[in-house]
Amino acid sequence: MATDRQDPGYRKARRTYLVSYDRAIPTLRQADHCIGCGQCMVHCPQTIKIPDELHRIDRYAEKLKQDPAVL
Ligand code: SF4
Repeated sequence: MATDRQDPGYRKARRTYLVSYDRAIPTLRQADHCIGCGQCMVHCPQTIKIPDELHRIDRYAEKLKQDPAVL
């Protein structure tokens, strides 16, 4: 994961993450399409707050997409 802009591998890690994310997950199933309805939570045996995690992933992906340091 691309975490530190000062890391010399940041640009490559950022690009790899974003390209892999787009390739692995169809657009309509990506985290930004979660509406937070909570219907998935009753099915998770680990009681993971899935909408919260999806929103966290979306914030991370959007941050990487809009990172002015790598434009
Ligand atoms: S809360 Fe769960 S079921 Fe509802 S949209 Fe998000 S991922 Fe899908």
